[in-house]
Amino acid sequence: MVHSLTKHPQIVVIGGGPAGATVGTICAQAGFSVQILEREKGPRFHIGESLMPATYWTLKRLGALDKMKASRFQKKYSVQFISESGKESQPFYFFENNPHEASQTWQVVREEFDSMLLDNAKEHGAMVSYGLRALDVLMEGTRAVGVRVRDGNGQEKEINCDVVVDATGQSSLIMNKLGLKVADKHLRKASLWTYYKGASREEGLDEGATLVCATKDKKGWFWYIPQHNDMLSVGVVSSMDELFGPECGTHEEVFLRELERCPAVMKRIQLGERVGPFYSTKDFSYQSKQISGPGWVLVGDAFGFLDPIYSSGVFLALKSGEMAADAIIMGFARGNLDKHTLGSWEGEFLQGMNRMKRLVYAFYEGFNFGAFIRKHPEMKRHIIDLLVGDLFKNSVDEVALPMDAMRRELCDASGMEFAQV
Ligand SMILES: Cc1cc2nc3c(=O)[nH]c(=O)nc-3n(C[C@H](O)[C@H](O)[C@H](O)COP(=O)(O)OP(=O)(O)OC[C@H]3O[C@@H](n4cnc5c(N)ncnc54)[C@H](O)[C@@H]3O)c2cc1C
Repeated sequence: MVHSLTKHPQIVVIGGGPAGATVGTICAQAGFSVQILEREKGPRFHIGESLMPATYWTLKRLGALDKMKASRFQKKYSVQFISESGKESQPFYFFENNPHEASQTWQVVREEFDSMLLDNAKEHGAMVSYGLRALDVLMEGTRAVGVRVRDGNGQEKEINCDVVVDATGQSSLIMNKLGLKVADKHLRKASLWTYYKGASREEGLDEGATLVCATKDKKGWFWYIPQHNDMLSVGVVSSMDELFGPECGTHEEVFLRELERCPAVMKRIQLGERVGPFYSTKDFSYQSKQISGPGWVLVGDAFGFLDPIYSSGVFLALKSGEMAADAIIMGFARGNLDKHTLGSWEGEFLQGMNRMKRLVYAFYEGFNFGAFIRKHPEMKRHIIDLLVGDLFKNSVDEVALPMDAMRRELCDASGMEFAQV
């Protein structure tokens, strides 16, 4: 393996979320000098609390699995869907397909999870700096050659490197700088969420289940994510007009109105006390036209984000971090850090991401998992695979034709445009 002899870090990772920590850890494990820059001064609040079981394999590779097992994070074994009328689907237990410990995952508190991953990156040899904001990526022509940063005292400096990894999440530094962002016109959504303590929750195996609860008229849906310390994350996702239109009112008024439309969540939180402010975000579904260029590569939300519905965000952040790290290591070995080498994983990654995208589009078109499985019982195992995050195998494509047929029927009936994956 050819290691550059320069004193500057070989790899600068901008952003200390799950994607940045992953790419940083794997490159450091391979012996490269890695600098991870995080603009926040210390561990910080973030949304994205429900993991998919398939995160297991990347967490294992990072050497973080034992830390997860020893953590207080709530264990999650299933996801369950509740219709607008309150009809509950059977829980989709992840272990139904694969009775392996990888079928259990966690509901995390991101401040704790992300700082654990960054500490782990440090243990594996990456340099991690909090309070350093990347202001710009330095370019020589189209090649990234470093980063200009500002520290907490307002001092600016330049860090040169061979590869810049953009893991800045929805800030998407490079995508915005180069005008690469393509918003998903089928998913112009917004979200509003808060936290409760002491709300009712299921017992035993179902205690940590994620509930996805449709609101009346299927205009939106709530997530119900039980966390440790008796905390509950509850949020609503709907169209931007529905949540943040001019006549909508305050966040609290909108949230309470949406709760009225969702008795399944209302009855569960009644005993609890709201303990957090309201948080909001909108228009979060997009993808970059390019995943890499000479000396740079995008990972996690800095490349693209689908939608919160199936909790795939952190999984795709970890997976893209892992794939990008392998491409970077290969690039150094070949002495070639061009666009095609650093982005060699794009096709495989997009194939997996698009398998999840089909499921996302289906949900908003009114797709009913129960009805689908009653019509196609042999498809249940593929649906579970997709909900687990087992996105990178061809067998799950068997679901595409029958699912698209049902989606088309729904679109024809409602007049909605069929969203091509
Ligand atoms: C409403 C909503 C609900 C969601 N729920 C879930 C869920 O239940 N499960 C799930 O898996 N996913 C969920 N997600 C998605 C999840 O939040 C993201 O996919 C995930 O956090 C992406 O990780 P990342 O590392 O790419 O980016 P991030 O986690 O956003 O990390 C990026 C980091 O970069 C830092 N940064 C940004 N700019 C700079 C800069 N210029 N210099 C230095 N540092 C910088 C930021 O401070 C941040 O720490 C949800 C998303 C939304 C919008």
